[in-house]
Amino acid sequence: MSTNVESKASLKTPAYAAQSAKSPLAPFTIERRKPQSHEVLIDILYCGVCHSDIHMIGNDLGISIFPMVPGHEIVGRVVEVGNHVSKWKKGDIVGVGCFVDSCRQCKACHAGEEQYCEKGMTLTFSGYERDGKTPTYGGYSTRITVDENYVLRIPEGIPLERVAPLLCAGITNYSSLKHFGVKAGDKVAVVGLGGVGHMTVKLAHALGAHVTVLSHSPNKRDDALRLGADDFIATKDESAFKDNAGRFDFVFDAVSAQHDYNAYLNLLKRDGTMVLLGLPDPSPVAAALLVFQRRKLAGSLIGGIRETQEMLDFCAEHGVAADVEVIPIDKVNEAFERMLKGDVRYRFVIDMASLK
Ligand SMILES: [Zn+2]
Ligand SMILES: [Zn+2]
Repeated sequence: MSTNVESKASLKTPAYAAQSAKSPLAPFTIERRKPQSHEVLIDILYCGVCHSDIHMIGNDLGISIFPMVPGHEIVGRVVEVGNHVSKWKKGDIVGVGCFVDSCRQCKACHAGEEQYCEKGMTLTFSGYERDGKTPTYGGYSTRITVDENYVLRIPEGIPLERVAPLLCAGITNYSSLKHFGVKAGDKVAVVGLGGVGHMTVKLAHALGAHVTVLSHSPNKRDDALRLGADDFIATKDESAFKDNAGRFDFVFDAVSAQHDYNAYLNLLKRDGTMVLLGLPDPSPVAAALLVFQRRKLAGSLIGGIRETQEMLDFCAEHGVAADVEVIPIDKVNEAFERMLKGDVRYRFVIDMASLK
């Protein structure tokens, strides 16, 4: 009897899905494939809840595919490996981030920056596999089958639920901090102390930068300092922008709601760089703020596989992990509501043992 039939067999897998744009998540069964030659099957232990999960369920970018199983901050255990897998064995604790494949041939892929793949990376959820027709389902499920080259090794020493958010929020920061050359002693401003922003504080601090958190809410001061910030500016106070003009080498802005960049650009020194990490709606930029002080406005998107591994190892070495609130999966719709109100410190993580 051919083993081919068995090797292609699918695995019925419990998940939570949105059936259409903006609909609440509800139990749903998906099919995962048995691992093919270079794939591993992972039992998911934890999955972080990212703001982009909400964006994608809302079809805010117009690219969503339904039914949708969100989740791209996945930590789990390898339970089965394909015949030709060389990197992993049963029992390994591994991670999966925002993408599960890419073309592997373009300049970006060769450079190890698969997130900028010229043919488009394969998103972990709400994307299509390289065949262009098999939809991808994310980490709000009990298991996932992934190519071995798109899997990360989770170093020991960090509680696994606190690792999950590193796979999106963590790498988003690490890659941009590295790319734009943030180093010890640099003056770094962080706009917005949310899921991504709290990791900017921790990682910039671990790199030795002098970190200042800018927030509308004065009551975030204690948290900001506890997370590693050296200073805090309450932006409710209009004079804050005048008093701190020209002060920073970098501004990292992870705010995902529409807002005015210009006030923040003016906080940069000559040659300073403001980096956008969120995807807010368009907002006008005053050219003079860039031109007169040779400032730069830039953006950055997650990171490649090699750099994500480097980030995980860096975090283990420096004791950096996300601050999380662990929830069972039936609380996920409530978690979305709370995130929209900024009521989370600082990332929800789903304990997948709650999904049967
Ligand atoms: Zn994310
Ligand atoms: Zn590519």
